[in-house]
Amino acid sequence: MRTGKFTVTLLIGAPGAGKGTQAEFVREALGMPHISTGDLLRDHRRQGTPLGRTARDYMDRGDLVPDDLVVKMVVQRLEEPDATHGVLLDGFPRTQHQADSLDAELAARGGGVLVALYLDVPQHVLFGRLSGRRVCDKCNGTFHVEMHDLPADGSCPTCGWRLVQRRDDQRAAVARRIHVYMDQTTPVLEHYRAMRLVHRVHGDQPVDAIKDELLTVLQQKQPTLAAS
Ligand code: AMP
Repeated sequence: MRTGKFTVTLLIGAPGAGKGTQAEFVREALGMPHISTGDLLRDHRRQGTPLGRTARDYMDRGDLVPDDLVVKMVVQRLEEPDATHGVLLDGFPRTQHQADSLDAELAARGGGVLVALYLDVPQHVLFGRLSGRRVCDKCNGTFHVEMHDLPADGSCPTCGWRLVQRRDDQRAAVARRIHVYMDQTTPVLEHYRAMRLVHRVHGDQPVDAIKDELLTVLQQKQPTLAAS
């Protein structure tokens, strides 16, 4: 990256706030790796690692995976060569303990948080987005039963394979995830707000409008991006 300092951009928002969609644009603008703890944990599950096996029940219930496991996973990821200058973190930190661990890790590297981009979406919208979401087992395409005209046989419109509902997108788990977010992650937002690092974006508007706002904020925070 251009500043030479290890900087981390945070993407904070409830499950279903659209972090994954916006992360693609932000990653491209920053030219840094996108680290989603949800994606990393799902990879561990697919590969059947000990972490994946431990994480499975927590995830399916909509609970958080224990802090020590997630922090260790993130710190290991930060050691990889593509993360030398910084990263975009999506879905981490999600608890006060994780935020404290991240701050300590960044301080040890002489780095810091550039900005915490907060996607603010009303709870009823989150609920509708998550419980109507379907994902393809094969190509990972993501769709919504109300926003897309999906084939009646349940096949994926992109690759023809099979659409499924993630276990944690079932109603009880969705309710639990939103509750856990309010309870555990709101303090994290306050933590970064006290450091004047939070930029709130109204997340219930068209994808492009959110993207434009996020990219404008990033350019203000790091003017060298404008030239890249
Ligand atoms: P996500 O795709 O970000 O909604 O994450 C899916 C699930 O992975 C969450 O409901 C948690 O069970 C787990 N998870 C993801 N990130 C974290 C984290 N930072 N701390 C604890 N658990 C996490």
